Amino acid sequence: MATAQRMVVIGANAAGMSAASQARRLKGAGELEIIALERGGHASYSACGIPYWVGGDVADAGDLIARTPEQHRERDIDLRLHTEVTELDPDGRRVRVRGRADGAAAGEWLGYDHLVVATGARPLRPALPGIDAPGVHGVQTMDDGRALLDALERAEAARTAEAPRRAVVVGAGYIGVEMAEALIRRGHRVTVLDRAEQPMSTLDPDMGRLVHEAMCRMGIETVTGATVTAVRTGEDGRVRAVATEDAEYEADTVVLGLGVRPETGLAREAGLPLGESGGLLTDLAMRVRGREDIWAGGDCVEVLDLVSGRTRHVALGTHANKHGQVIGTNVGGGYATFPGVVGTAVSKVCDLEIARTGLLETQAEALGLRFVTVTVESTSRAGYYPGAAPMHVKMLAERRTGRLLGVQIVGREGAGKRVDAAAVALTAGMTVEQMTALDLGYAPPFSPLWDPVLVAARKAVAEVRRAGAH
Ligand SMILES: Cc1cc2nc3c(=O)[nH]c(=O)nc-3n(C[C@H](O)[C@H](O)[C@H](O)COP(=O)(O)OP(=O)(O)OC[C@H]3O[C@@H](n4cnc5c(N)ncnc54)[C@H](O)[C@@H]3O)c2cc1C
Repeated sequence: MATAQRMVVIGANAAGMSAASQARRLKGAGELEIIALERGGHASYSACGIPYWVGGDVADAGDLIARTPEQHRERDIDLRLHTEVTELDPDGRRVRVRGRADGAAAGEWLGYDHLVVATGARPLRPALPGIDAPGVHGVQTMDDGRALLDALERAEAARTAEAPRRAVVVGAGYIGVEMAEALIRRGHRVTVLDRAEQPMSTLDPDMGRLVHEAMCRMGIETVTGATVTAVRTGEDGRVRAVATEDAEYEADTVVLGLGVRPETGLAREAGLPLGESGGLLTDLAMRVRGREDIWAGGDCVEVLDLVSGRTRHVALGTHANKHGQVIGTNVGGGYATFPGVVGTAVSKVCDLEIARTGLLETQAEALGLRFVTVTVESTSRAGYYPGAAPMHVKMLAERRTGRLLGVQIVGREGAGKRVDAAAVALTAGMTVEQMTALDLGYAPPFSPLWDPVLVAARKAVAEVRRAGAH
Protein backbone atom coordinates (compact mmCIF):
# COMPACT_ATOMS: atom_id res chain seq x y z
CA MET A 1 0.00 0.00 0.00
CA ALA A 2 1.30 3.48 -0.88
CA THR A 3 2.32 5.59 2.10
CA ALA A 4 0.35 8.75 2.84
CA GLN A 5 1.68 12.05 1.56
CA ARG A 6 2.30 14.77 4.15
CA MET A 7 0.83 18.28 4.08
CA VAL A 8 2.48 20.71 6.48
CA VAL A 9 0.64 23.96 7.22
CA ILE A 10 2.45 26.92 8.79
CA GLY A 11 -0.06 29.16 10.60
CA ALA A 12 -3.28 27.67 11.90
CA ASN A 13 -5.86 30.35 11.40
CA ALA A 14 -8.15 31.43 8.55
CA ALA A 15 -6.09 30.44 5.51
CA GLY A 16 -4.12 27.58 7.07
CA MET A 17 -6.99 25.75 8.72
CA SER A 18 -9.34 26.30 5.78
CA ALA A 19 -6.69 24.60 3.64
CA ALA A 20 -6.25 21.78 6.13
CA SER A 21 -10.00 21.22 6.56
CA GLN A 22 -10.74 21.25 2.85
CA ALA A 23 -7.87 18.86 2.07
CA ARG A 24 -9.15 16.53 4.78
CA ARG A 25 -12.66 16.64 3.28
CA LEU A 26 -11.20 15.37 0.02
CA LYS A 27 -8.59 12.93 1.31
CA GLY A 28 -8.69 10.65 4.32
CA ALA A 29 -5.83 10.17 6.78
CA GLY A 30 -4.69 7.04 4.94
CA GLU A 31 -3.88 9.14 1.88
CA LEU A 32 -2.86 12.46 3.39
CA GLU A 33 -1.26 13.19 6.74
CA ILE A 34 -1.96 16.80 7.76
CA ILE A 35 0.20 18.62 10.32
CA ALA A 36 -0.66 22.24 11.20
CA LEU A 37 1.97 24.24 13.10
CA GLU A 38 0.91 27.32 15.05
CA ARG A 39 3.24 29.42 17.15
CA GLY A 40 0.38 30.97 19.13
CA GLY A 41 -2.02 29.31 21.54
CA HIS A 42 -5.18 29.61 19.39
CA ALA A 43 -6.35 28.30 16.03
CA SER A 44 -9.33 28.85 13.72
CA TYR A 45 -10.69 32.00 15.32
CA SER A 46 -12.21 35.16 13.92
CA ALA A 47 -9.83 38.08 14.43
CA CYS A 48 -12.54 40.13 12.68
CA GLY A 49 -14.70 39.68 15.76
CA ILE A 50 -12.15 41.10 18.23
CA PRO A 51 -13.52 44.69 18.15
CA TYR A 52 -17.03 43.38 18.87
CA TRP A 53 -15.79 41.15 21.68
CA VAL A 54 -13.92 44.07 23.25
CA GLY A 55 -16.96 46.31 22.74
CA GLY A 56 -19.26 43.81 24.45
CA ASP A 57 -21.44 42.78 21.46
CA VAL A 58 -19.88 39.32 21.59
CA ALA A 59 -20.03 38.06 25.14
CA ASP A 60 -17.56 35.22 25.07
CA ALA A 61 -14.19 34.74 23.41
CA GLY A 62 -15.27 31.16 22.68
CA ASP A 63 -17.89 32.53 20.27
CA LEU A 64 -15.06 33.70 18.00
CA ILE A 65 -13.66 30.20 17.63
CA ALA A 66 -14.89 28.52 14.46
CA ARG A 67 -13.46 25.09 15.31
CA THR A 68 -11.60 24.05 18.45
CA PRO A 69 -8.22 22.27 18.37
CA GLU A 70 -9.97 19.12 19.62
CA GLN A 71 -12.44 19.26 16.73
CA HIS A 72 -9.54 19.51 14.27
CA ARG A 73 -7.75 16.61 15.92
CA GLU A 74 -10.92 14.50 15.80
CA ARG A 75 -10.76 14.96 12.03
CA ASP A 76 -7.20 13.65 11.93
CA ILE A 77 -5.57 17.03 11.59
CA ASP A 78 -2.45 17.01 13.75
CA LEU A 79 -2.67 20.59 15.08
CA ARG A 80 0.37 21.59 17.14
CA LEU A 81 -0.05 24.84 19.08
CA HIS A 82 2.91 26.78 20.52
CA THR A 83 5.01 25.37 17.72
CA GLU A 84 6.98 27.76 15.55
CA VAL A 85 8.56 27.19 12.18
CA THR A 86 11.95 28.88 12.24
CA GLU A 87 13.35 27.97 8.82
CA LEU A 88 12.18 26.77 5.42
CA ASP A 89 14.28 24.49 3.24
CA PRO A 90 12.36 24.32 -0.07
CA ASP A 91 15.01 22.28 -1.86
CA GLY A 92 15.16 19.74 0.96
CA ARG A 93 11.32 19.80 1.25
CA ARG A 94 11.47 20.34 4.99
CA VAL A 95 10.84 22.98 7.67
CA ARG A 96 12.60 23.49 10.98
CA VAL A 97 10.17 23.36 13.90
CA ARG A 98 10.59 24.57 17.47
CA GLY A 99 8.02 23.70 20.13
CA ARG A 100 7.50 25.71 23.29
CA ALA A 101 9.19 23.00 25.34
CA ASP A 102 12.31 23.20 23.15
CA GLY A 103 13.18 26.63 24.52
CA ALA A 104 16.09 28.14 22.65
CA ALA A 105 16.95 24.87 20.90
CA ALA A 106 17.19 25.11 17.13
CA GLY A 107 14.42 22.57 16.62
CA GLU A 108 13.83 19.48 14.51
CA TRP A 109 13.41 19.23 10.76
CA LEU A 110 10.01 18.08 9.51
CA GLY A 111 9.65 16.86 5.93
CA TYR A 112 6.68 17.54 3.66
CA ASP A 113 5.18 16.69 0.30
CA HIS A 114 3.01 19.80 0.29
CA LEU A 115 3.83 22.94 2.27
CA VAL A 116 1.19 25.60 2.94
CA VAL A 117 2.53 28.98 4.03
CA ALA A 118 -0.31 30.74 5.87
CA THR A 119 1.68 32.93 8.24
CA GLY A 120 -0.64 35.95 8.04
CA ALA A 121 0.49 39.50 8.62
CA ARG A 122 2.21 41.39 11.41
CA PRO A 123 0.83 44.67 12.73
CA LEU A 124 2.92 47.80 12.32
CA ARG A 125 4.42 48.99 15.57
CA PRO A 126 6.71 51.97 14.96
CA ALA A 127 9.82 52.22 17.14
CA LEU A 128 8.61 55.24 19.13
CA PRO A 129 9.63 56.07 22.70
CA GLY A 130 7.20 54.40 25.12
CA ILE A 131 5.51 52.21 22.50
CA ASP A 132 6.01 49.07 24.62
CA ALA A 133 4.78 50.64 27.86
CA PRO A 134 2.02 48.86 29.81
CA GLY A 135 -1.30 50.20 28.54
CA VAL A 136 -0.35 50.14 24.86
CA HIS A 137 -2.25 47.39 23.04
CA GLY A 138 -2.39 45.78 19.62
CA VAL A 139 -5.54 43.94 18.52
CA GLN A 140 -4.16 41.40 16.06
CA THR A 141 -4.67 38.17 18.01
CA MET A 142 -6.98 36.60 20.58
CA ASP A 143 -4.26 37.11 23.18
CA ASP A 144 -4.10 40.82 22.27
CA GLY A 145 -7.88 41.04 22.64
CA ARG A 146 -7.80 39.25 26.00
CA ALA A 147 -5.01 41.52 27.33
CA LEU A 148 -6.90 44.65 26.24
CA LEU A 149 -10.19 43.46 27.68
CA ASP A 150 -8.58 42.58 31.04
CA ALA A 151 -6.89 45.98 31.18
CA LEU A 152 -10.13 47.80 30.31
CA GLU A 153 -12.11 45.87 32.91
CA ARG A 154 -9.51 46.71 35.58
CA ALA A 155 -9.52 50.38 34.57
CA GLU A 156 -13.32 50.52 34.50
CA ALA A 157 -13.56 49.05 38.01
CA ALA A 158 -11.44 51.96 39.22
CA ARG A 159 -13.40 54.59 37.26
CA THR A 160 -14.92 57.59 39.00
CA ALA A 161 -17.22 60.24 37.55
CA GLU A 162 -14.49 62.84 38.11
CA ALA A 163 -11.85 60.79 36.34
CA PRO A 164 -13.32 59.11 33.26
CA ARG A 165 -11.08 56.68 31.42
CA ARG A 166 -9.39 58.05 28.34
CA ALA A 167 -8.31 56.02 25.37
CA VAL A 168 -6.31 56.99 22.32
CA VAL A 169 -6.54 54.94 19.14
CA VAL A 170 -3.58 55.44 16.83
CA GLY A 171 -4.64 54.89 13.22
CA ALA A 172 -8.04 55.63 11.69
CA GLY A 173 -8.27 52.71 9.29
CA TYR A 174 -11.09 50.22 9.64
CA ILE A 175 -9.58 48.49 12.69
CA GLY A 176 -8.95 51.88 14.35
CA VAL A 177 -12.52 53.09 13.85
CA GLU A 178 -13.99 49.75 14.93
CA MET A 179 -11.88 49.93 18.10
CA ALA A 180 -12.99 53.54 18.68
CA GLU A 181 -16.57 52.29 18.64
CA ALA A 182 -15.72 49.45 21.05
CA LEU A 183 -14.09 51.87 23.50
CA ILE A 184 -16.82 54.48 23.34
CA ARG A 185 -19.41 51.78 23.97
CA ARG A 186 -17.48 50.91 27.11
CA GLY A 187 -17.80 54.51 28.30
CA HIS A 188 -14.27 55.71 27.54
CA ARG A 189 -13.46 59.13 26.19
CA VAL A 190 -11.88 58.32 22.86
CA THR A 191 -9.44 60.20 20.66
CA VAL A 192 -8.43 58.81 17.28
CA LEU A 193 -5.18 60.08 15.76
CA ASP A 194 -4.16 59.64 12.15
CA ARG A 195 -1.53 61.37 10.09
CA ALA A 196 -3.63 61.21 6.91
CA GLU A 197 -5.86 64.04 5.73
CA GLN A 198 -9.03 62.15 6.70
CA PRO A 199 -9.90 58.93 8.52
CA MET A 200 -10.39 55.78 6.43
CA SER A 201 -7.72 56.24 3.81
CA THR A 202 -9.36 53.33 1.97
CA LEU A 203 -11.79 56.04 0.83
CA ASP A 204 -11.14 59.22 -1.12
CA PRO A 205 -10.68 62.21 1.24
CA ASP A 206 -14.09 63.73 0.35
CA MET A 207 -15.80 60.53 1.53
CA GLY A 208 -13.38 60.24 4.48
CA ARG A 209 -14.51 63.72 5.54
CA LEU A 210 -18.07 62.41 5.95
CA VAL A 211 -16.71 59.73 8.29
CA HIS A 212 -14.68 62.36 10.14
CA GLU A 213 -17.70 64.59 10.70
CA ALA A 214 -19.86 61.68 11.82
CA MET A 215 -17.19 60.46 14.28
CA CYS A 216 -16.98 63.92 15.83
CA ARG A 217 -20.79 63.99 16.19
CA MET A 218 -20.54 60.60 17.96
CA GLY A 219 -18.23 62.18 20.51
CA ILE A 220 -15.07 60.55 19.13
CA GLU A 221 -12.38 63.22 19.00
CA THR A 222 -10.81 62.63 15.60
CA VAL A 223 -7.54 64.38 14.84
CA THR A 224 -6.10 64.05 11.36
CA GLY A 225 -2.76 65.29 10.06
CA ALA A 226 -1.44 64.10 13.43
CA THR A 227 1.89 62.25 13.41
CA VAL A 228 2.49 60.42 16.68
CA THR A 229 6.01 60.99 18.00
CA ALA A 230 5.98 59.26 21.41
CA VAL A 231 3.95 57.51 24.05
CA ARG A 232 4.45 59.34 27.37
CA THR A 233 4.57 57.34 30.57
CA GLY A 234 3.98 58.26 34.20
CA GLU A 235 6.15 57.50 37.24
CA ASP A 236 4.61 54.02 37.42
CA GLY A 237 5.86 53.34 33.88
CA ARG A 238 2.32 53.11 32.49
CA VAL A 239 1.05 55.07 29.53
CA ARG A 240 -0.09 58.59 30.42
CA ALA A 241 -0.45 60.35 27.08
CA VAL A 242 0.25 60.16 23.38
CA ALA A 243 2.35 62.94 21.88
CA THR A 244 2.08 64.16 18.31
CA GLU A 245 4.20 66.81 16.61
CA ASP A 246 1.72 69.46 17.77
CA ALA A 247 -0.04 68.27 20.92
CA GLU A 248 -0.41 65.72 23.68
CA TYR A 249 -3.50 63.57 24.30
CA GLU A 250 -4.11 62.09 27.74
CA ALA A 251 -4.59 58.32 27.76
CA ASP A 252 -4.78 55.39 30.16
CA THR A 253 -5.19 53.02 27.23
CA VAL A 254 -3.64 53.21 23.77
CA VAL A 255 -4.78 50.95 20.95
CA LEU A 256 -2.65 50.61 17.82
CA GLY A 257 -4.38 50.17 14.48
CA LEU A 258 -1.66 51.15 12.05
CA GLY A 259 -2.09 48.46 9.44
CA VAL A 260 -0.18 45.29 8.72
CA ARG A 261 2.58 43.90 6.52
CA PRO A 262 2.82 40.34 5.19
CA GLU A 263 4.59 38.00 7.62
CA THR A 264 7.05 36.60 5.10
CA GLY A 265 10.46 36.77 6.80
CA LEU A 266 10.97 33.00 6.53
CA ALA A 267 9.82 32.95 2.91
CA ARG A 268 12.22 35.77 2.06
CA GLU A 269 15.14 33.97 3.71
CA ALA A 270 14.25 30.83 1.76
CA GLY A 271 14.31 32.75 -1.52
CA LEU A 272 10.60 32.42 -2.30
CA PRO A 273 9.25 35.09 -4.70
CA LEU A 274 7.83 38.23 -3.06
CA GLY A 275 5.99 41.18 -4.55
CA GLU A 276 6.44 44.90 -3.94
CA SER A 277 4.56 44.80 -0.63
CA GLY A 278 6.62 41.84 0.60
CA GLY A 279 3.71 39.42 0.07
CA LEU A 280 4.32 36.02 -1.50
CA LEU A 281 3.55 35.72 -5.19
CA THR A 282 1.41 32.79 -6.25
CA ASP A 283 -0.34 31.57 -9.37
CA LEU A 284 -4.14 31.43 -9.53
CA ALA A 285 -4.16 27.97 -7.92
CA MET A 286 -2.38 29.62 -4.92
CA ARG A 287 0.84 27.73 -5.64
CA VAL A 288 3.95 29.80 -4.91
CA ARG A 289 5.37 30.84 -8.27
CA GLY A 290 8.04 28.47 -9.48
CA ARG A 291 7.44 25.95 -6.68
CA GLU A 292 5.54 22.76 -7.42
CA ASP A 293 4.98 21.75 -3.80
CA ILE A 294 4.58 25.06 -1.90
CA TRP A 295 1.26 26.86 -1.57
CA ALA A 296 0.48 30.16 0.13
CA GLY A 297 -2.65 32.08 1.06
CA GLY A 298 -4.19 34.69 3.31
CA ASP A 299 -2.55 37.83 4.64
CA CYS A 300 0.96 36.67 3.65
CA VAL A 301 0.31 36.81 -0.12
CA GLU A 302 -0.32 39.41 -2.78
CA VAL A 303 -3.47 38.99 -4.84
CA LEU A 304 -4.37 40.05 -8.35
CA ASP A 305 -6.48 43.20 -8.40
CA LEU A 306 -8.92 42.54 -11.22
CA VAL A 307 -9.63 46.24 -11.76
CA SER A 308 -6.04 47.48 -11.95
CA GLY A 309 -4.53 44.27 -13.32
CA ARG A 310 -1.72 44.45 -10.72
CA THR A 311 -0.94 42.38 -7.68
CA ARG A 312 -1.28 43.96 -4.26
CA HIS A 313 -1.54 43.11 -0.58
CA VAL A 314 -5.12 43.02 0.75
CA ALA A 315 -5.26 41.63 4.27
CA LEU A 316 -8.84 40.43 4.69
CA GLY A 317 -10.34 37.34 6.26
CA THR A 318 -12.76 36.90 3.40
CA HIS A 319 -9.87 36.29 0.99
CA ALA A 320 -7.87 34.19 3.47
CA ASN A 321 -10.70 31.68 3.82
CA LYS A 322 -11.17 31.45 0.06
CA HIS A 323 -7.43 30.97 -0.48
CA GLY A 324 -7.44 28.15 2.07
CA GLN A 325 -10.37 26.52 0.34
CA VAL A 326 -8.57 26.70 -3.02
CA ILE A 327 -5.31 25.33 -1.60
CA GLY A 328 -7.07 22.50 0.23
CA THR A 329 -8.98 21.55 -2.91
CA ASN A 330 -5.80 21.44 -5.00
CA VAL A 331 -3.75 19.56 -2.42
CA GLY A 332 -6.71 17.21 -1.99
CA GLY A 333 -6.53 16.29 -5.67
CA GLY A 334 -9.26 18.61 -6.99
CA TYR A 335 -8.99 21.78 -9.03
CA ALA A 336 -9.75 25.31 -7.88
CA THR A 337 -8.45 28.83 -8.52
CA PHE A 338 -8.67 32.23 -6.88
CA PRO A 339 -9.08 34.68 -9.75
CA GLY A 340 -8.44 37.87 -7.77
CA VAL A 341 -10.20 40.67 -5.94
CA VAL A 342 -11.94 43.91 -6.84
CA GLY A 343 -11.04 45.57 -3.52
CA THR A 344 -14.33 45.31 -1.63
CA ALA A 345 -14.41 46.15 2.07
CA VAL A 346 -17.09 47.12 4.54
CA SER A 347 -16.89 48.32 8.12
CA LYS A 348 -18.67 50.56 10.56
CA VAL A 349 -18.20 53.02 13.36
CA CYS A 350 -21.25 53.07 15.65
CA ASP A 351 -24.23 53.45 13.29
CA LEU A 352 -22.19 54.75 10.35
CA GLU A 353 -21.50 52.18 7.64
CA ILE A 354 -18.49 52.57 5.37
CA ALA A 355 -17.91 50.58 2.20
CA ARG A 356 -15.77 50.59 -0.90
CA THR A 357 -14.98 48.53 -3.94
CA GLY A 358 -12.70 49.07 -6.93
CA LEU A 359 -10.38 52.02 -7.35
CA LEU A 360 -10.07 55.31 -5.51
CA GLU A 361 -9.39 58.46 -7.51
CA THR A 362 -5.69 58.39 -6.60
CA GLN A 363 -5.39 54.75 -7.64
CA ALA A 364 -7.13 55.36 -10.97
CA GLU A 365 -4.86 58.36 -11.62
CA ALA A 366 -1.74 56.35 -10.79
CA LEU A 367 -2.79 53.76 -13.39
CA GLY A 368 -3.10 56.47 -16.02
CA LEU A 369 -6.86 56.04 -16.35
CA ARG A 370 -9.06 58.95 -17.37
CA PHE A 371 -12.34 58.90 -15.53
CA VAL A 372 -15.38 60.81 -14.33
CA THR A 373 -16.50 61.00 -10.73
CA VAL A 374 -19.99 61.54 -9.35
CA THR A 375 -21.31 61.68 -5.82
CA VAL A 376 -24.98 61.43 -4.92
CA GLU A 377 -26.84 61.85 -1.67
CA SER A 378 -29.86 59.59 -1.41
CA THR A 379 -31.59 57.66 1.36
CA SER A 380 -31.50 54.12 2.69
CA ARG A 381 -35.29 53.68 2.40
CA ALA A 382 -38.10 55.46 0.55
CA GLY A 383 -37.99 59.07 1.78
CA TYR A 384 -41.49 58.77 3.32
CA TYR A 385 -40.74 55.49 5.12
CA PRO A 386 -39.80 55.72 8.82
CA GLY A 387 -36.08 55.41 9.45
CA ALA A 388 -34.95 56.65 6.02
CA ALA A 389 -31.40 57.90 6.56
CA PRO A 390 -29.03 59.78 4.26
CA MET A 391 -26.52 57.82 2.22
CA HIS A 392 -23.67 59.11 0.07
CA VAL A 393 -22.52 57.11 -2.93
CA LYS A 394 -19.46 58.05 -4.94
CA MET A 395 -18.83 56.37 -8.27
CA LEU A 396 -15.90 56.39 -10.70
CA ALA A 397 -16.33 55.44 -14.35
CA GLU A 398 -13.82 55.39 -17.17
CA ARG A 399 -14.20 58.19 -19.71
CA ARG A 400 -15.17 57.14 -23.20
CA THR A 401 -15.92 53.48 -22.32
CA GLY A 402 -18.10 54.16 -19.26
CA ARG A 403 -16.59 51.12 -17.51
CA LEU A 404 -17.30 51.11 -13.78
CA LEU A 405 -14.04 51.67 -11.85
CA GLY A 406 -15.06 52.05 -8.24
CA VAL A 407 -17.75 52.82 -5.66
CA GLN A 408 -17.58 54.23 -2.14
CA ILE A 409 -20.56 54.39 0.20
CA VAL A 410 -21.01 56.14 3.54
CA GLY A 411 -24.37 56.04 5.29
CA ARG A 412 -26.51 54.54 8.03
CA GLU A 413 -28.22 51.18 8.33
CA GLY A 414 -28.36 49.30 5.04
CA ALA A 415 -25.70 51.43 3.32
CA GLY A 416 -22.63 49.22 3.66
CA LYS A 417 -23.69 45.97 2.05
CA ARG A 418 -25.08 47.88 -0.96
CA VAL A 419 -21.49 47.88 -2.15
CA ASP A 420 -21.89 44.21 -3.05
CA ALA A 421 -24.01 45.04 -6.11
CA ALA A 422 -21.19 47.29 -7.29
CA ALA A 423 -18.62 44.56 -6.57
CA VAL A 424 -20.56 42.17 -8.80
CA ALA A 425 -20.79 44.81 -11.53
CA LEU A 426 -17.03 45.41 -11.30
CA THR A 427 -16.28 41.71 -11.45
CA ALA A 428 -18.46 41.41 -14.52
CA GLY A 429 -16.69 44.39 -16.13
CA MET A 430 -19.97 46.28 -16.53
CA THR A 431 -20.34 49.84 -17.73
CA VAL A 432 -22.28 52.33 -15.63
CA GLU A 433 -24.93 52.31 -18.35
CA GLN A 434 -25.38 48.55 -17.96
CA MET A 435 -25.61 49.08 -14.21
CA THR A 436 -28.58 51.41 -14.53
CA ALA A 437 -30.62 48.46 -15.83
CA LEU A 438 -29.73 46.14 -12.94
CA ASP A 439 -32.80 44.47 -11.49
CA LEU A 440 -32.18 45.33 -7.83
CA GLY A 441 -34.85 44.65 -5.23
CA TYR A 442 -37.14 47.46 -4.20
CA ALA A 443 -39.78 48.03 -1.53
CA PRO A 444 -40.09 51.21 0.57
CA PRO A 445 -38.60 49.71 3.80
CA PHE A 446 -35.43 48.70 1.90
CA SER A 447 -34.72 51.35 -0.67
CA PRO A 448 -36.02 54.36 -2.55
CA LEU A 449 -37.58 53.43 -5.89
CA TRP A 450 -34.21 54.10 -7.49
CA ASP A 451 -31.60 52.45 -5.33
CA PRO A 452 -28.81 54.93 -4.38
CA VAL A 453 -26.27 52.82 -6.34
CA LEU A 454 -28.45 53.10 -9.44
CA VAL A 455 -28.92 56.84 -8.93
CA ALA A 456 -25.13 57.17 -8.89
CA ALA A 457 -24.85 55.00 -12.02
CA ARG A 458 -27.38 57.21 -13.86
CA LYS A 459 -25.46 60.31 -12.92
CA ALA A 460 -22.21 58.67 -13.99
CA VAL A 461 -23.73 57.81 -17.40
CA ALA A 462 -24.59 61.49 -17.88
CA GLU A 463 -21.05 62.50 -16.87
CA VAL A 464 -19.46 60.00 -19.25
CA ARG A 465 -21.62 61.38 -22.07
CA ARG A 466 -20.75 64.94 -21.13
CA ALA A 467 -17.03 64.09 -21.14
CA GLY A 468 -17.49 62.80 -24.69
CA ALA A 469 -14.97 60.74 -26.60
CA HIS A 470 -11.89 62.39 -25.05
C1 LIG B 1 -9.13 43.46 14.73
C2 LIG B 1 -9.28 42.86 13.37
C3 LIG B 1 -10.48 43.00 12.68
C4 LIG B 1 -10.60 42.45 11.40
N1 LIG B 1 -11.80 42.60 10.75
C5 LIG B 1 -11.96 42.06 9.51
C6 LIG B 1 -13.20 42.16 8.82
O1 LIG B 1 -14.15 42.74 9.33
N2 LIG B 1 -13.29 41.60 7.59
C7 LIG B 1 -12.25 40.92 7.01
O2 LIG B 1 -12.40 40.40 5.90
N3 LIG B 1 -11.06 40.80 7.65
C8 LIG B 1 -10.89 41.35 8.88
N4 LIG B 1 -9.70 41.23 9.54
C9 LIG B 1 -8.57 40.57 8.85
C10 LIG B 1 -8.59 39.06 9.05
O3 LIG B 1 -8.68 38.75 10.39
C11 LIG B 1 -7.32 38.49 8.45
O4 LIG B 1 -7.30 38.84 7.09
C12 LIG B 1 -7.26 36.98 8.58
O5 LIG B 1 -7.18 36.60 9.90
C13 LIG B 1 -6.04 36.47 7.82
O6 LIG B 1 -5.95 35.11 7.99
P1 LIG B 1 -4.56 34.37 7.82
O7 LIG B 1 -4.82 32.94 8.10
O8 LIG B 1 -3.95 34.74 6.53
O9 LIG B 1 -3.61 35.02 8.90
P2 LIG B 1 -3.72 35.05 10.49
O10 LIG B 1 -5.13 35.02 10.93
O11 LIG B 1 -2.86 36.17 10.92
O12 LIG B 1 -3.04 33.69 10.91
C14 LIG B 1 -1.68 33.45 10.67
C15 LIG B 1 -1.18 32.54 11.78
O13 LIG B 1 0.15 32.14 11.46
C16 LIG B 1 0.88 32.01 12.67
N5 LIG B 1 2.30 32.06 12.34
C17 LIG B 1 2.98 33.07 11.74
N6 LIG B 1 4.27 32.74 11.57
C18 LIG B 1 4.41 31.49 12.07
C19 LIG B 1 5.52 30.60 12.19
N7 LIG B 1 6.73 30.93 11.76
N8 LIG B 1 5.31 29.39 12.77
C20 LIG B 1 4.08 29.02 13.20
N9 LIG B 1 2.99 29.83 13.12
C21 LIG B 1 3.16 31.04 12.56
C22 LIG B 1 0.40 33.20 13.48
O14 LIG B 1 0.61 32.99 14.86
C23 LIG B 1 -1.09 33.23 13.12
O15 LIG B 1 -1.90 32.53 14.05
C24 LIG B 1 -9.53 41.76 10.82
C25 LIG B 1 -8.32 41.62 11.52
C26 LIG B 1 -8.19 42.16 12.77
C27 LIG B 1 -6.89 41.99 13.51
